Amino acid sequence: MKQYSVKKVFLGRLQKGDDLLKEITAFVKEKNIETGFINVIGAATKAVFGYYDMQKEEYEFITRKGEFEILNVSGNVSIKDGEPMVHAHILFADDKGNTFGGHLAEGTKIFAAELYIQELEGEALVREFDKETGLTLW
Ligand code: ZN
Repeated sequence: MKQYSVKKVFLGRLQKGDDLLKEITAFVKEKNIETGFINVIGAATKAVFGYYDMQKEEYEFITRKGEFEILNVSGNVSIKDGEPMVHAHILFADDKGNTFGGHLAEGTKIFAAELYIQELEGEALVREFDKETGLTLW
């Protein structure tokens, strides 16, 4: 375990039609956040998320269109290939209150979103290929 202290906290809103992952990634790159924590609540009109097939060692992606609550996005910022990278998981609820979700992928379209980004100070988290899992981990 590594220890960090909070450097800055950003609170903001995304606009209707924004791509959730692209907007968060653009923001952390603009602010050059190397290590951080992300949380989002809101609503979406399109959900794109993946799960990692452990046998194939690749992501399978699922797309759903509709009206969804974003119950939670929890993620972190680290460095991959020399650039800030966002890794986040998302939990949605549909109009029946049923939940689903997974690894947040590009394509998730925002209806409204309240965003919390915490920039941390300390040793940068750097992702490297892990041959045990096939993933790039820190
Ligand atoms: Zn993931």
